[in-house]
Amino acid sequence: MFFNIVNLNAHKELSPDLYVQLTKEEVDFIKNTKINVATTVTWSPMNMYNNETKELEGITIDFWNLIKSKLSFNSKITIAENWNTVLNRIKNKEADITLGTSYDKEKLSYASFSIPYISFPIAFATLYDKRFIPNSSFLENLKVGVGENYSSHIILKKKYPKINFITVKNTKEALKLLSAGEVDVVVDILPVIAHLISINGYYNLKIAGTSEENIDLSFMVRKDYPELIQIINKQISLLNDEEKNKIINELLTVKFDKKYIDKNIIINISIILIALSILYYFRRKSKIIHNKELEYLSITDSLTGLNNRRKLDLVLNEEIKNKKFSIIILDIDKFKLINDEFGHLEGDDVLKKISNILKNNVNKNDVIGRWGGEEFLIICKNTTSIQVEVLALRLKNLIENNDFKIKKITASFGISEAKRDLNLKDILANADKALYKAKQNGRNQIVNYN
Ligand code: GH3
Ligand code: MG
Ligand code: MG
Repeated sequence: MFFNIVNLNAHKELSPDLYVQLTKEEVDFIKNTKINVATTVTWSPMNMYNNETKELEGITIDFWNLIKSKLSFNSKITIAENWNTVLNRIKNKEADITLGTSYDKEKLSYASFSIPYISFPIAFATLYDKRFIPNSSFLENLKVGVGENYSSHIILKKKYPKINFITVKNTKEALKLLSAGEVDVVVDILPVIAHLISINGYYNLKIAGTSEENIDLSFMVRKDYPELIQIINKQISLLNDEEKNKIINELLTVKFDKKYIDKNIIINISIILIALSILYYFRRKSKIIHNKELEYLSITDSLTGLNNRRKLDLVLNEEIKNKKFSIIILDIDKFKLINDEFGHLEGDDVLKKISNILKNNVNKNDVIGRWGGEEFLIICKNTTSIQVEVLALRLKNLIENNDFKIKKITASFGISEAKRDLNLKDILANADKALYKAKQNGRNQIVNYN
């Protein structure tokens, strides 16, 4: 059961685009949560402060405003002095979200990332008379100025440990060092480098090349707000190219042209170049991003956020190649009665709560998804059926002892193992038979077929 976001702002005029489908919990989250945004204003043209209008602007800010207006978020933006301050605020839960950064495994202990909404290559700025830099590996053994913990810093550091980084608080500072000859190269995403070189009038600097790999920008949200990520992902998936292009076009043609166009012909030309380069990369990448979004949606069950059957089938077909895994089919007991007694909405709520229990308690390498209505499948790689019994028992107890508010709920479990002579159909049928037995024997129990 879904709630349409239109319910939330019935007073607003409906525009003809798609509405994101939100669950009741997600709607409640939006209604009850004031979202604290943290951003810097030192990453132009991604985020910056307009002294004339006294407003924040930039590509990440505009994307946030677009998403925010579509979802009727109640939010407040606080400016942080530098990027590390933003990270600390998210860590301490003083801020809930920041607007444009790339996925980083190391931040998963305190944050999660949305699907990317835009992406750019890393640009290499050098003094004007330096040679072309064909790719990032050419940065090794050079002195590279970079904003500390910026996405470019983190990504390049991991991939090219021999780069000698000189970290500063933002890219503008790094360009100062470059202009003074104190570093060899400065890195950041292309629009930022192009924009900073032109607005600061660094005529002795140029872009000497760009990376092959792109940096995908996502929203980063404090970890204990999974609803927020889920809602934002749904909305990003619905943004169309027209809306995305509008943000970039407006920013470049309206805001910058007016401000800087008469000052200097070189700046004028460089602005056109930035516009072209951004649009070029944007167009090229938007297709790829779009595919990523579609991929996300095509493998995710929208009610529970778990993998859907399609994804489970893909994993099973992969795992069957080595035949070293076991599966658990879990079916909620007498689930129909829950719908009948408490309504479909409460039923949905139980499905989500059970999904969360499963999500939070399976092992790292287990793949878990919604197999059908009130059935879930867990694929445990490199595991025997005896070993997965322990996991099943843990899950059975957690469900049985969980407070669902409406009533006690239990589930039955069927286990089977991939043995050498079995095909996928057999393995699934065996788990089904085991599950049937568990139901027959009185439910709330585990049967191992093997
Ligand atoms: P058993 O213990 O034998 O499994 O009994 P059961 O009632 O759980 O099994 P049955 O297969 O008869 O009923 C499953 C019910 O699950 C029927 C269907 O209406 C409900 N269901 C399936 N998908 C959803 C869903 O997405 N939301 C809700 N609320 N109910 C669902
Ligand atoms: Mg069933
Ligand atoms: Mg059932």
